[in-house]
Amino acid sequence: MSVVALAKKVWEAALFAEIWSAMKVTFKHMLHKPITFQYPREQRVIPDAHRGALGLLRYDDGKERCVGCDLCEAACPSRCIKVISAEDKSLPLQRYASEFYIDITKCVFCGYCVEACPVNALAMTKMYEFSTHDKRTLLFDKKRLYQIGEQHLEDGKKYLYAHGQEKNDQMYHDYRYFFPQSVKQSTQPPPKHLT
Ligand code: SF4
Ligand code: SF4
Repeated sequence: MSVVALAKKVWEAALFAEIWSAMKVTFKHMLHKPITFQYPREQRVIPDAHRGALGLLRYDDGKERCVGCDLCEAACPSRCIKVISAEDKSLPLQRYASEFYIDITKCVFCGYCVEACPVNALAMTKMYEFSTHDKRTLLFDKKRLYQIGEQHLEDGKKYLYAHGQEKNDQMYHDYRYFFPQSVKQSTQPPPKHLT
């Protein structure tokens, strides 16, 4: 070791240079605003595109959007959706989901089911606090899914807007989500097998 290097080492040791350089890092962080959230007293702002618990949505008039087509069930990679559909006797050719189950313990929150739905009946919400000691309560049935949809309706709609699946305009209301008037008020008698 050269004399200069040795003198430098002795000088640094005398001034506790390593301690001061470590303290510099500590003091720098003391002046920063803390980024830790004191959960659950503090809540994070969840982005609109967040994939939280799934909910079923209704139209503004309270009618169920779901037409029981099973496309969400087919699209689900975890096979955690079960839809049982039935015919809506009040409207010819229209079906609805008489039963709807999502086993949220198997869900990987991929959002494929929401993308597959032709009428945007499913949406993901910002709800993430549903941990429980009883796993059986995590099999969400139709009632629970509509409950989540109602409680988090605005978040569900924001999710659909954020993912470009729905626009908040009249065209969507008139043409995408409502059964065509010609089908609602049929001008022809229903087929024999339906009477
Ligand atoms: S988010 Fe993905 S895994 Fe969960 S129910 Fe939908 S398709 Fe299935
Ligand atoms: S939620 Fe959508 S995709 Fe699933 S059964 Fe209902 S209408 Fe079909």
